[in-house]
Amino acid sequence: MSKTDGKTCVVCGAVDARLLTATRLSGGAVVTVCGSHELAHLRADAPAATVEELRALLGERRVPLERRGVSDELAGALHLAFSGDRRSGQGGRRLGGA
Ligand SMILES: [Zn+2]
Repeated sequence: MSKTDGKTCVVCGAVDARLLTATRLSGGAVVTVCGSHELAHLRADAPAATVEELRALLGERRVPLERRGVSDELAGALHLAFSGDRRSGQGGRRLGGA
């Protein structure tokens, strides 16, 4: 009946009423979104003017693959740095060592 009467996140389609809130488009229209997409919209550089724009804007941010690759690279670099540091530390003195 009154389950999801227009109450879904316009970006991801979430229907859980506990997650749903609303966000205002730059044109003044208020659309239903889930909490995380409301937050993402608030954090966006510029508010979307239409639902389509909102989807495009927030849809791009939903893909964390790039970040993952970066942090992998960083983790690898850190690992190398630490293992190298450790090796040289074994032979001689290190800063902070007594
Ligand atoms: Zn959503």
